[in-house]
Amino acid sequence: MKQKFCSLRGMRDILPGESALWQQLEGVAREVFGRFGFEEIRTPIVEETALFERGVGEDTEVVGKEMYQFLDKGGRDISLRPEGTASAARAYIEHAVHQKEPVSKWFYTGPMFRYERMKTGRYRQFHQLGAEVFGIAEPKQDAELIELAFAFLKKLGIENVRLELNSLGDADCRRRFSEKTRAYFSTHRHVLTEELQKTLERNPIRLLDSKEEVMAPLIAAAPVLLEHLDEASLEHFEELQRLLRLSAVEFTLNPRLVRGLDYYARTAFEIVADDALLGTASTLCGGGRYDGLLEQLGGPCVPAVGFAMGLERLCLLLGANTQPEPRGPLLFLADAGGGDEAWKLLSRLRKGGLAVEADLRGGSVKSQLKRAHKLGAQYCIVLGEAELQTGRAKLKDMRSSTEREIALEELEGILR
Ligand code: ATP
Ligand code: MG
Repeated sequence: MKQKFCSLRGMRDILPGESALWQQLEGVAREVFGRFGFEEIRTPIVEETALFERGVGEDTEVVGKEMYQFLDKGGRDISLRPEGTASAARAYIEHAVHQKEPVSKWFYTGPMFRYERMKTGRYRQFHQLGAEVFGIAEPKQDAELIELAFAFLKKLGIENVRLELNSLGDADCRRRFSEKTRAYFSTHRHVLTEELQKTLERNPIRLLDSKEEVMAPLIAAAPVLLEHLDEASLEHFEELQRLLRLSAVEFTLNPRLVRGLDYYARTAFEIVADDALLGTASTLCGGGRYDGLLEQLGGPCVPAVGFAMGLERLCLLLGANTQPEPRGPLLFLADAGGGDEAWKLLSRLRKGGLAVEADLRGGSVKSQLKRAHKLGAQYCIVLGEAELQTGRAKLKDMRSSTEREIALEELEGILR
């Protein structure tokens, strides 16, 4: 028996029926992100593993457990990108962009890879739409990004979402808070699983983000970072909130929001949709500030802030109530013995930039017209010997079922 192939677990095909929705998403993204002054960047899908270890953090779930990591034929340790920020930062540094312009506003979209347990809204290959701004430390930039995310969702018709906001303070503040958190959870070490104990050793703040049931009551009573913020971070955070109020963006403060990746400092935010369709995968967008990232990767001391959205989750939300516009060909050429002349006409019209379809299997005129209907063609012409001899044919409007006689010569002009 021949082997039957399937796509890998957690990796999906997007077939033509569904890809229209993706094109719509990407089109809206280009329009809205462009309106906010963002330019697209495209980076390779694989990078050195060390980039993600250093840029995202070895102790994070994403890098520690979920990476598609392997040796290439040259023995290089490389990984499929699990997220986009590290690559964008690498590109920014590699091309010394800070020497060319003081501010860079980039967006990207494309597949990301994480070896995760499959669930609704959680895949091993998924797509993110992300934005990164390099060069602006002011809270106005954080606010602008949040507005951008909302503008994009709104344009898609996704409005039932909420913004959760937190500040993680500066590096010093996080270090101090990290020790405080370690001390707190250490007194509860006996209830922690082995896994959680490892996190306690390596990166205790991440325990605040744990979804394990045993952790819920512990987390509820844990120290709160917002109460330990350094003064400058607090000022930044308050200004961000003031700006959001000015532009009527609603938010709730969530002091437990620590985000999965290590490089965040100061602002952290998530946009969440409480829709049953998404199950536990309710976070649409996660973002924040990572002023130390570029330096950490050997680059200049340039502040940065960004976010990433999961497009599959948006598709799940939209899929239920979007019917993409049917887009059939403008004209269908049915061949009733037109032979080479019909073939040449098809070629001529397409060279002229018109959307024309024909049934290359041939067959009866009736079956060809059926195909024209099925494709949603707007107009149809039946080409037989008579039409070719007289140079005139009936142009049928498929929607109104009316027809008129035209000269084949004038066809292009009429269709335009
Ligand atoms: P989660 O808490 O849902 O695991 P995360 O913190 O790992 O999210 P980020 O790394 O912040 O996610 O990625 C930003 C967004 O990308 C998420 O909010 C989500 O919409 C999307 N995303 C992340 N992982 C997946 C996945 N495995 N499948 C589909 N979308 C994902
Ligand atoms: Mg995750």
